Amino acid sequence: MEEEASYICDSCGEEIIIPLDPSAGRRQQYTEDCPVCCHPNVITVEFGRKGQVRVSSESEY
Ligand SMILES: [Zn+2]
Repeated sequence: MEEEASYICDSCGEEIIIPLDPSAGRRQQYTEDCPVCCHPNVITVEFGRKGQVRVSSESEY
């Protein structure tokens, strides 16, 4: 199981590394402020049955 993943900030285009917490649920969604430009992104993390991770982000507004 991977323990971190990354997404591309919708606002500044930077790749942001995020830690993963598989114990928090198979599908997680939360808002995180970009550490580079402080733009809030809605992060969706989905864990597959084989341990694969899918991360997607979208702008909150
Ligand atoms: Zn950003």
